Amino acid sequence: MNDSDYQFETLAVTHGERQRPAEGVEDVAVPVHLASTFAVPEIDPDASLESLDPDAGEYLYSRLSNPTRNALEHRIAALCGGDHALAFASGTAAIVTAISAAVQPGDHIVAFDDLYGGTKSMLSDLFEDRLNVSVSLVDARDTDTVAAAMREETSLVWMETPTNPLLRLCDIEAIAAIADEYGATFGVDNTFVGPHFQRPLELGADVVVHSTTKYLNGHSDSIGGALATNDEAYAEEMTFLQRVGMGNMLAPFDAYLTLRGLKTLPLRMEKHASNAQAVAEFLADHPAVEAVHYPGLESHPQHDLASRQMSGYGGVLSIELDTDLDGVARFVAALEHFPLAVSLGGVESLIEHPASMTHSPLSQEERDMLGITDSLLRLSVGVEHEADLLSDLSDALDVI
Ligand SMILES: *Cc1c(COP(=O)(O)O)cnc(C)c1O
Repeated sequence: MNDSDYQFETLAVTHGERQRPAEGVEDVAVPVHLASTFAVPEIDPDASLESLDPDAGEYLYSRLSNPTRNALEHRIAALCGGDHALAFASGTAAIVTAISAAVQPGDHIVAFDDLYGGTKSMLSDLFEDRLNVSVSLVDARDTDTVAAAMREETSLVWMETPTNPLLRLCDIEAIAAIADEYGATFGVDNTFVGPHFQRPLELGADVVVHSTTKYLNGHSDSIGGALATNDEAYAEEMTFLQRVGMGNMLAPFDAYLTLRGLKTLPLRMEKHASNAQAVAEFLADHPAVEAVHYPGLESHPQHDLASRQMSGYGGVLSIELDTDLDGVARFVAALEHFPLAVSLGGVESLIEHPASMTHSPLSQEERDMLGITDSLLRLSVGVEHEADLLSDLSDALDVI
């Protein structure tokens, strides 16, 4: 029976829709595959959820796997140098999954004391307070402090490099060796610089996570996260947590946006980095600027480490102005090309005031300990023309 012989109501629901794209159709861009469920050819008594092979076109339900998400996961695995990747509804979801799969109650975690604020709260308010996992936060710029914090029950080492907002680094290769010695899983949140410039798996990390919200998607229009690993058993555990334990995955439309964003990741990163370098050098020479934190500056105390483990220095830097909070506010208000907003890694430049925004949940004492002063500002340098960014900053500095 020809489809068009069906009743109007039936046609309205199903006509023109195919379970598989037409024979011979090869999309150059992966379509947004929104279907929540997929028709299977027949009842197969031998089928199981584990035996589904998305790469062979076997889909059952989009929480488990989805063609658009699957395409993104393959691309992220390849870019990170991993065999497996999973895409989540946020960077936070990728992080909680990677950590949950590596620790049990009674275990111990060693982490950088300069972690992303949300991850720090997750470690203390979820893993420590509710799940009986102890956490030691250390200044991982000094690899010896990481080694000294390790215990027999340490099952996870969790690092970020460079950190937010002070662009501190840790030595991925050296810390991987320490984690190995204790049989601990080593995870790196690589959000601040992304896989174009730094690939932690190749330096010995067991898992790398990115908030795709930032550079990977790169256009400030999607929240997402992804992880990649080469460890088969760990990947299975994280897949279980993603699909069944937590039910947390990137939606097809966001997977599509991120696939699209990734096409220009290398181009964008090169431009972010060259603009950030120019901005950092300009500000470092300006009398109204007390300090510039950017790993691409020779004055950065870990510039040599940065040059060794990164192939570019990224697009984020922070500055301390030689003025009070009122002066900082006047500077920010005078900027044309740097809207005051959290987040980073989009094509447009942004400026952020950590003390009152990203790091406001911390106590004054904690901020003092980390070096987050009222005059500190974080810049996410976009891909606009360098000259426009420099003259904007110069004009705004004249105001103070
Ligand atoms: C933004 C960010 C996260 C959290 O990612 P979401 O996508 O906002 O959940 C984690 N780590 C770092 C370093 C980040 O910058």
